[in-house]
Amino acid sequence: MPGPYRRKKTHYGDTHLQRRWRTRNRKRDLDQIDGDLKEENAEKLLNQEVDVDKPGDAQFYCLHCARYFIDDNAMNAHFKTKVHKRRLKALELEPYSIEDSERAAGHGSYIPPKKRKLQTQTPITEKDVIKEMELSMN
Ligand SMILES: [Zn+2]
Repeated sequence: MPGPYRRKKTHYGDTHLQRRWRTRNRKRDLDQIDGDLKEENAEKLLNQEVDVDKPGDAQFYCLHCARYFIDDNAMNAHFKTKVHKRRLKALELEPYSIEDSERAAGHGSYIPPKKRKLQTQTPITEKDVIKEMELSMN
């Protein structure tokens, strides 16, 4: 079947760029993470069962970035990075909701999105120290 010439002649070496946009590389969206930040979900995510398919057996997870780390060192280093701080900043504003869109469409009056201060989760090493202190007190 004659048709358009299929072989692409440009963008040879850019597979690493295309891979970023694959569906399987899709990360959690900010509003999904906002749901994760709710207490019961956060608790679950921070105390995951050992999963050998995940980096670090799923024991080191950054809630705000939805990322796994191989050990507490890597995670604590991540907490100090620009990507993490940028993410905290991006999560400061509450996500746009269905109610917001209804208000925008003329149902009710505009309520500006609330700002909140986000705290990086306590690094695991510190948590362990606190636990040990509690144990020694009892
Ligand atoms: Zn992070």
